Amino acid sequence: MFYFYAAAVLILITAVVIFSAKYNWWKKPKDGLVILLYHHIGTPPANSKNKRNWVSPENFTKQLDWLASNGYTSINFDGLLKIMAGKAQFPPKPVIITFDDGYKDVYQNAFPLLKERKMKAAALLVQEAVGKYNFWQDPAREVWQDIMTEEQVKEILKSGVFDYGSHGLTHKNLAKLESDAAEYEILESAARLANTFGAQCAVFAYPYGGGAEDEEINSFISAAGYKISLSSEQGINPLPLNTAKPLKRIPIRRRTDMLQFKLKITRG
Ligand SMILES: [Zn+2]
Repeated sequence: MFYFYAAAVLILITAVVIFSAKYNWWKKPKDGLVILLYHHIGTPPANSKNKRNWVSPENFTKQLDWLASNGYTSINFDGLLKIMAGKAQFPPKPVIITFDDGYKDVYQNAFPLLKERKMKAAALLVQEAVGKYNFWQDPAREVWQDIMTEEQVKEILKSGVFDYGSHGLTHKNLAKLESDAAEYEILESAARLANTFGAQCAVFAYPYGGGAEDEEINSFISAAGYKISLSSEQGINPLPLNTAKPLKRIPIRRRTDMLQFKLKITRG
């Protein structure tokens, strides 16, 4: 009988551990600025080894509707800059929806859903990839994906739904570059993006999160005129916001279910 109970307890503990690794119910709820990180909205190609980066339009719709019906207000970086300049205040439960790399499926699938709901978002663009494809990825892992064209980026910006930031010139991991090459990626991408899309490029998202902890790279970011930088580190950003450091984000994956989504947004 003892062995029966011992086995039952062991099974229960294992189940709780497995559940708790996926669902962070054990973290304390936190207030602050939530920045969501997406890549693709759509169906992954059949042979993709990168399926986790693809959120279905159905799940994305559920996530947007959950945010709206639970009192979250989506702002973008233009809005955040106004708040930082003291010209506006944070709405209750602020959230920024970001898309890294600038894929065409974001234009096709996410843009209409956001627009319908009058929600805001930001596209983090790899300057040399605009109108091309994600050349930095190994096509053996996934067939290359189209990146939005210049016209498509202009359209989403003009709509007022999106603003944009830089995700480098060529999506290189800055932590693996010589200083002058890292500086070039940071400076030149801002200059060229501003030249094409008009507004000043105020946001930089570190490709692969690389270099976000490096003080020299951080100093290139501020010298280039960026006001905000984004890491890939998971978490909620406490208020008042400290923009001297890269802001944390919450990655949303293909298998992120609604319970996980709610727990991530409220607990980081
Ligand atoms: Zn990226």
